[in-house]
Amino acid sequence: MQSTLQNLKHYFGYESFRLQQEEIIHNLLNKKDALVIMPTGGGKSLCFQLPALEFPGLTLVISPLIALMKDQVDGLQANGIPAAFYNSSQDFETQQEILEQVSQKSIKLLYTAPESLAGLQDILKPSYISCVAVDEAHCISSWGHDFRPSYKQLGFLKKSMPEVPMIALTATADKATRVDILNQLTIPKAEVFISSFNRENIFLGVKMANKRLQQIEKFLARRPDEAGIVYCLSRKSTEKLASDLNNFGYQAEAYHAGLDHETRSQIQENFIFDKTQIVCATIAFGMGIDKSNVRWVIHYNMPKNIESYYQEIGRAGRDGLPSQGLMFHSYADVIQYRNFIDDAANQDVQYAKLDRIKQFAEAKSCRRKVLLAYFGEYLEEDCGHCDICLNPPQFMDGKIYAQKAISAVARTQQNEPIGVIIDILRGAKNQRILERNYDQLKTYGVGKDIAWRDWQHYILEMINQGVLDIAFHDANKLKVNSLSKKVLFHDYQVALTKPVDPKVEKREVLKKSKKKSLFESLRQLRMQIAREEDLPPYLVFNDASLKEMEAQRPKDLNAFLTISGVTQRKAERFAEEFLNVINQQKKRQKKSKGSTYLKTFELYQEGLSLAEICKSRGLKETTIISHLAKLYQDGKKISLLDFVSQNEIDQVSEALNEIKYEGALKPIHEAIGGQVQYGKIRLALAYLNM
Ligand code: ADP
Ligand code: ZN
Repeated sequence: MQSTLQNLKHYFGYESFRLQQEEIIHNLLNKKDALVIMPTGGGKSLCFQLPALEFPGLTLVISPLIALMKDQVDGLQANGIPAAFYNSSQDFETQQEILEQVSQKSIKLLYTAPESLAGLQDILKPSYISCVAVDEAHCISSWGHDFRPSYKQLGFLKKSMPEVPMIALTATADKATRVDILNQLTIPKAEVFISSFNRENIFLGVKMANKRLQQIEKFLARRPDEAGIVYCLSRKSTEKLASDLNNFGYQAEAYHAGLDHETRSQIQENFIFDKTQIVCATIAFGMGIDKSNVRWVIHYNMPKNIESYYQEIGRAGRDGLPSQGLMFHSYADVIQYRNFIDDAANQDVQYAKLDRIKQFAEAKSCRRKVLLAYFGEYLEEDCGHCDICLNPPQFMDGKIYAQKAISAVARTQQNEPIGVIIDILRGAKNQRILERNYDQLKTYGVGKDIAWRDWQHYILEMINQGVLDIAFHDANKLKVNSLSKKVLFHDYQVALTKPVDPKVEKREVLKKSKKKSLFESLRQLRMQIAREEDLPPYLVFNDASLKEMEAQRPKDLNAFLTISGVTQRKAERFAEEFLNVINQQKKRQKKSKGSTYLKTFELYQEGLSLAEICKSRGLKETTIISHLAKLYQDGKKISLLDFVSQNEIDQVSEALNEIKYEGALKPIHEAIGGQVQYGKIRLALAYLNM
């Protein structure tokens, strides 16, 4: 495995394997079939991308989403791995070019959709293909949640190339789907690798859906710059929430199936490129998003089952850094789902699934245990990283409370929903109470001393424990049952938990510093490079790599190369700029005067030529040019025309009329037919005040 480890560092920037990656790769290199079940963010791609480098021929990757392919291929190319995709979004010539590259064996990985396999007939031979990877393999099964009819035909691949190893990958755990995948791909003997579904870096929390907007505002105030997704049930609530968040000063957009295709891809792209911080979405959003720095996911409404919940929170923290999943729980959502299910097929299964997510939301013990148990995985110890572990419920004798509530329900002839019952207990004087003479009841006002939301908490617990019923089919009225009577008239005990006081509630620890951190500066540099290269920022380096740079503060290229995620190729392209920022910070800390820009400016004022400045500062020309552009923009006296000609400026200016300029240099470079160097474009832009 020596060369495999070397390739891991050289091409992917990592020192060691995660989970079962090593075994899986070993298995594949021995030409054996495999089925890999690993949670989202677990690192599935590496399991076929790394062997692809060692196989003599091509690794063909089947993937359901055209949108995802470009991202994956961009990521590979950024690491210096020759890769391409082949799909219906390309014109005939581009497709021919790719086939040509395959026959010349100049690419290692080719991504394609099942629908496009017909066009690849000529290369579907062992002489070209060394390995087939079927990504998102659950799409083949109608048991799964994203069934794609076109996946059904994939069985032919193994039949026509039996000696070529096949690896199927998915994050869907259930057994029926697993068996289905093996059968349909005709790889019954494949080795099955199942990794833990525990996403330790994601903090799990559930809150009652009271004043959600306020709660979200507080949540965001603690993490003002972090990217996240809020899932809502309805289109309308995505729009309302996005606009509320805009009013709070966050960049948020609504995303739902009612928007046209173009708008949706624009929103998705803005999110991937860190231009939009928050997306408020219906469940249609997120499939195929590889963005590794999503830091939190909020469920504005309770998801309809645990699979969806798990999949959706899984979009947070793919880089392994601390992330949050926050779910709001309300009876209104449960009721709405029940109404949906009443009209649907398969009712029993769906009710059972709804019950399981409700149990999760109402859990009184470690939530992660409840979650993983659903997938058949058992944690030995409490996780310590969920709201229940941080604030373990404190049980108390709730008999008197239960008696008061049950008696109020009985005295209203079981004709009122939870809100009215609480109003009666608290002695409210609103219209409904007075109209119906509830202020005359014996129970009126017997619970004055308990806050509204605490009553709500207690009554919901009573419902969950079965000492009160809720009639979903009758306006959600509360009803008494045989247990209620035992509480009233016999010595049936009721244990309730104390509501958590938000003022003393323990929350997950967030590290924060007031000063602009090195991480922040590195993030800015990443953003600048991403714009210039027209890449999503996380493909330059992900948050985990930046965090490590911040912690390690590498001094030179060699030290830089030891950072996780720094590949040979990326070091060649970006090391200088990143090292620069790191060193600047160090110098700033040593209180040395004069920024790197000012040093360049001093040399410029002394009349040194560009080459001389580069030499004296030991920096590359591109760096010095960007200094000059910045100095000019900051109002320093620089004669830009000494470095870029009027003719070049005119060309750039013309190009700007043709394209939509959003900060990337590449489109300009291409619009001019590659004739003007990047550095000069940068100077021309400064000259043009862009
Ligand atoms: P999946 O496809 O399973 O959802 P990915 O393949 O996209 O996950 O990997 C998730 C993240 O983990 C990526 O940013 C990837 O670069 C990173 N990663 C994968 N393998 C390793 C490893 N051995 N060490 C560190 N990071 C890794
Ligand atoms: Zn826990």
